[in-house]
Amino acid sequence: MTESVQLNAVQMNAVQETSPIPVLVVGALGKMGREVVRAVTQTPDMALVGAVARSQLGSDIGEVLGLGSLGVEITDDLSGQLLKLSQQSHRGVMVDFTHPRCVFEHIRSAIAFGVRPVVGTTGLSPEQVARLREFADKSSMGCLIAPNFAIGMILLQQMAVQAAQYFDHVEIIELHHNHKADAPSGTATQTAQRLGQLGKTFNLPEVEEKELIPGSRGGIPEHNIRIHSIRLPGLVAHQEVIFGGMGQTLTLRHDTTDRVAFMPGVILGIRRVLELKGLVYGLEHLLS
Ligand code: NAD
Repeated sequence: MTESVQLNAVQMNAVQETSPIPVLVVGALGKMGREVVRAVTQTPDMALVGAVARSQLGSDIGEVLGLGSLGVEITDDLSGQLLKLSQQSHRGVMVDFTHPRCVFEHIRSAIAFGVRPVVGTTGLSPEQVARLREFADKSSMGCLIAPNFAIGMILLQQMAVQAAQYFDHVEIIELHHNHKADAPSGTATQTAQRLGQLGKTFNLPEVEEKELIPGSRGGIPEHNIRIHSIRLPGLVAHQEVIFGGMGQTLTLRHDTTDRVAFMPGVILGIRRVLELKGLVYGLEHLLS
């Protein structure tokens, strides 16, 4: 009896390994969430199984997005969706593009239910990330938090690290649409952190500065690297890292002109999070 039950469990696992990865999208009606729903439904080894949002409840997400019926009703019951997903499969993935005020609890709940989070929402504090890391690592549960899913931005950061070895002065300008809730952007903070990890002291003051208008010299999250945040309609997501040296400047710039730019990274993250046994912060760690 036990043997046959074990065999069935093994068979069940084998079936699940070859079946599409079940994906729950949270924030499904947001600008990013809509793109994720489109991308997941166009990816043969993935299946959209849930859509959590705060409006249009009960409507079919596919109908709302003009994709035709997908048989997935929009709901605001995240816990219910996580429970259902955890009962259906051991390979469930939750993709979250929501808001800094709720994302921490979303990630904790997903891990508690045995569903792997792939998170693009920015604005988590380093302390929150540390607590989530502890929780995910203890549960041996894959979790990916990536402040930027665009490959071009990851390349920019790598090039910035390379350039920083030759320049002692650097500032960052990040530019986003005016509906962005957090500032500076998670990507800009991450860029500053990566430069800071080189162990250099940047931007030693040459004069005593006085800000006549508070904030005009930007914010300094850490490592003495200033970040300037611009919010305007018409922008999507952009970043400049400007290095200054004797008689020269070097500007590295990345522009996201359409949110589809993030989708290859999100799809890669959904696949790779299944192999992880704890929390990974940054898509660059999953690119080989
Ligand atoms: P958006 O405002 O268009 O969408 C957010 C959606 O989340 C909204 O529809 C909102 O109703 C919903 N939401 C908020 N709280 C919720 C909750 N408790 N439960 C369910 N849904 C909830 O914003 P956006 O432009 O899609 O960005 C979302 C997040 O993703 C932001 O934090 C943004 O900075 C980040 N972002 C990350 C990347 C990346 O590559 N990592 C790229 C773009 C945006």
